[in-house]
Amino acid sequence: MKFKTLKGLQDILPPDISLWHHIEATARDIFKNYGYREIRLPIMESTDVFTRSIGETSDIVEKEMYTFEDKGKRSVTLRPEGTASFVRAYVEHHIHNNPAPQKFYYMGPMFRYERPQAFRYRQFYQIGAEAMGVEDAKLDAEIISMLSRLLSTIGLTGLNFEVTSIGCKDCRPDYKKALKDYLGDKLKSFCGDCQRRYDANPLRILDCKVPGCIESRKGSPAVLDHLCEECSSHFDKLKHYLELLKVPHTINPNLVRGLDYYTKTAFEVSSENLGSQSAVAAGGRYDSMVKEFGGPPTPGIGFAMGIERIIPLIKNTIDVSDGPELLICPLGDEATEKGFQLTEQLRSNGLWAEINHEVTSLKSQMRKANRIGAKNVIVLGDDEIKAAQVVIRNMSDKSEVTSTLSIDELVKVIRRV
Ligand code: ATP
Ligand code: MG
Repeated sequence: MKFKTLKGLQDILPPDISLWHHIEATARDIFKNYGYREIRLPIMESTDVFTRSIGETSDIVEKEMYTFEDKGKRSVTLRPEGTASFVRAYVEHHIHNNPAPQKFYYMGPMFRYERPQAFRYRQFYQIGAEAMGVEDAKLDAEIISMLSRLLSTIGLTGLNFEVTSIGCKDCRPDYKKALKDYLGDKLKSFCGDCQRRYDANPLRILDCKVPGCIESRKGSPAVLDHLCEECSSHFDKLKHYLELLKVPHTINPNLVRGLDYYTKTAFEVSSENLGSQSAVAAGGRYDSMVKEFGGPPTPGIGFAMGIERIIPLIKNTIDVSDGPELLICPLGDEATEKGFQLTEQLRSNGLWAEINHEVTSLKSQMRKANRIGAKNVIVLGDDEIKAAQVVIRNMSDKSEVTSTLSIDELVKVIRRV
């Protein structure tokens, strides 16, 4: 019997893992420049953490959560996203007591029971950032600028930054009414889900992926035209600060987010090179969530980016080839012993060194050197040991340098310094 990964899950193997490391290391660097510190959150929470914040009528809560009862009969859910867990932790640990803004980032797997397709998985990884305690639109512009810098430092090009405001609880009733008035007559042309959403949460209709619904909702009123004074002035400031920081962006009045907790600013980054699953990152403000989670009223803003959708975009531009800096090919028992010792000493001097554990013909040892991508090779035979001298062969330009067996000299030659 052969086991396989579950549908929609995948193993991440070398050499691709180097791309993951590149993305993660770049993110840590950039986050440091902006004062974001890491927070590690559990991968499961009480189901309520997600249903209360993401929204009962959202696709995530309605269809996509991995929810089960644990042995203590508690309903728990594998996290489908990071913000709800983060806010739970923010309130639980009274993080609001620290000077604002409090800035955090996380990296890790998320779980959504979706139909697997290219770049859409059931376990996928997000890198996310959250900044708390500041209402001012400068923070919004700063986090969008950070995301833009992060994605371009990772190596992405051809990105489209779309920004909008989706208002707050004060402007929403007016907008919902305008939307319902517009959609009311056409309701029959929408899918069953949308007909249900019309009463439960008409905003969700704007996020439906069914082609017929996309067509039927064309021309719907935009929330941008129904903002209250405060949201409208916040959005004006955001646009101003984005210009000031020279962050390229477009305003998309039809941008909607699949999560209920967003207020005011919402944004999405997409790539023209990803086909239909084009969203690389998304985020927005959530000014009422901390209060809803039992904390003091505290504004917040954040984003999350999907690592699996970034990998294919950088795959051909970043060199992920790796291999040992040195491979020792021993010819005989004495050489094996000596080489084994040398390998260990070179490693303790910071080199990635390997030795062939099986003494085979020189030809097959060289073939292996090529297959594993060894940068340099030493053939170690009786003559070399007697003379205490070896030839170090550079596998890419085929140049050869003679060295004694002194570790210092070997390291120097291999590093070519
Ligand atoms: P989509 O519209 O593609 O379903 P979403 O709006 O559900 O995306 P968010 O909840 O905003 O996505 O998550 C932020 C990012 O996480 C997305 O922009 C995407 O890069 C990534 N992401 C979301 N769901 C998946 C998934 N099932 N597989 C891989 N990446 C995902
Ligand atoms: Mg989705």
